[in-house]
Amino acid sequence: MTLDRLQNYIGGAFQPPLSDAWMETENPYSAAAWGLIPRSGAEDASAAVAAAKQAFESGPWAEASPTARAGMLRRIAAVVAENAEELARIEVRDNGKTFAEMHAQVQRIPDWYNFYAGLADKIGGELLPEARPGHMTYVRHEPLGVIAMITPWNSPLMLLAWKLAPALAAGNTAVVKPSEFTTASALRFAGLVGEAGLPAGVLNVVGGLGAEVGAALTGHPDVAKVAFTGGVSGGRAVYAAAAQDLKPVSLELGGKSPNIVFGDADLELAARGVVSGIFGSGGQSCVAGSRLLVQRDLHDAFVARVVELTEKIRLGDPMSPETDIGPVANRPQFDRIMTCIGWALEDGATCVTGGTQVQDPEGGPGLFVAPTVFTGVSNDMRIAREEVFGPVLSVIPFDGEAEAVAIANDSPFGLGAGLWTRDVARVHRVAARLQAGSVWVNTYKATSQIAPFGGYKASGLGREGGVEMIADYLQTKSVWLNL
Ligand code: NAD
Repeated sequence: MTLDRLQNYIGGAFQPPLSDAWMETENPYSAAAWGLIPRSGAEDASAAVAAAKQAFESGPWAEASPTARAGMLRRIAAVVAENAEELARIEVRDNGKTFAEMHAQVQRIPDWYNFYAGLADKIGGELLPEARPGHMTYVRHEPLGVIAMITPWNSPLMLLAWKLAPALAAGNTAVVKPSEFTTASALRFAGLVGEAGLPAGVLNVVGGLGAEVGAALTGHPDVAKVAFTGGVSGGRAVYAAAAQDLKPVSLELGGKSPNIVFGDADLELAARGVVSGIFGSGGQSCVAGSRLLVQRDLHDAFVARVVELTEKIRLGDPMSPETDIGPVANRPQFDRIMTCIGWALEDGATCVTGGTQVQDPEGGPGLFVAPTVFTGVSNDMRIAREEVFGPVLSVIPFDGEAEAVAIANDSPFGLGAGLWTRDVARVHRVAARLQAGSVWVNTYKATSQIAPFGGYKASGLGREGGVEMIADYLQTKSVWLNL
């Protein structure tokens, strides 16, 4: 079988990597390669940066009025809406998440482009009070230049939109390095928006490995900022490399998010929220609620209900509407999940359901892990501290509110936290004390372009979403006039 060969998108045209090096890309459900993607190198990264720099400095994008930029963003939103089904199918083929999830996710992407379109023509300046006698001083907000955007495999086009929409609204240009596991959707998206009129060079996509093309982009002198989403080790490497050039970065990294259930909660709502919070996307979500902190006197009954719901989860073909969870996205991720399950057992946790590889009900070769619940976990065990990025829930009991907050915050991470209670005063007390970028009360995992999202501690640096974050893609200049 000949495999599809996908090319880089640079300067408004598809082109093969200069080295002519390729790597296979696999469908995790069929466990078979379906295509070849570029294994680009530093020279491809440089070509893409040069195209983005040229588009930033001259030509239709550089000359576009803010209103025209807003119009372009709205066109991108329309293109995504019109092609949502195709784009979602491409993502499912590469990451194995269910079509229902990826389609719903892609259908929400236009909201991001429309939201930041609304801000493109509201980036004002400021006339300052007289700062020196006889001088007039004003402030300009200018785009930064070429932004490198490095994205992971779990929600490829959505996490790109979180970066690209504000960056373009502010007048920047972009070079995208999608995950080597999910390169196809960004390439298709780039082709579609190019056909829709985005000027050449404004959006470039370069396929390849993080340590190769990702590192080349991060260290490139003409890249003004790196916007990264991925794991802690990649984030650290990007931060260290960017420090050499004193380049700004935004880092959206991993999590070990707690779901805290108090005795006064609506317990059925909480149990359902906890189960979907960890097992949705097979746990392959940065905000997966991987630690369940449950008030001790509820522990047994609540865990029993969680296990009952967990055992109803249907694994299988991600394209089938009957499926709740598809296969694990790739072999390294599967190995990581099984290693973490091994740690939990070695450290003395009790596996009450799951804990093993399971076969696809259709008999296919994809890698599946049974949704897994561990009890008897203490917060110092590896299973409670390390991000698994898989369908594994660790249950930790607590006695009172102060202990719940202490356990929740005793983590290297601080991305999300869930709080299940009907006590309004407790909601505000606990929400204020949790070290997490998003706190969800009687709900979990809600995100929107309207609300800032990001992490405390090792979960990252900077925020994505919301009005204010457009400032992260702008530079401030004071202009002094001697009158
Ligand atoms: P990853 O860190 O392995 O890869 C992410 C991207 O970074 C890929 O494109 C990869 O090629 C690139 N990369 C890796 N090393 C690099 C380097 N040294 N220099 C430059 N680029 C490099 O992450 P992943 O496995 O694709 O994704 C899963 C991780 O992403 C999890 O930790 C998850 O929590 C995190 N994540 C965070 C958020 C968030 O918004 N906070 C959202 C989704 C996923």
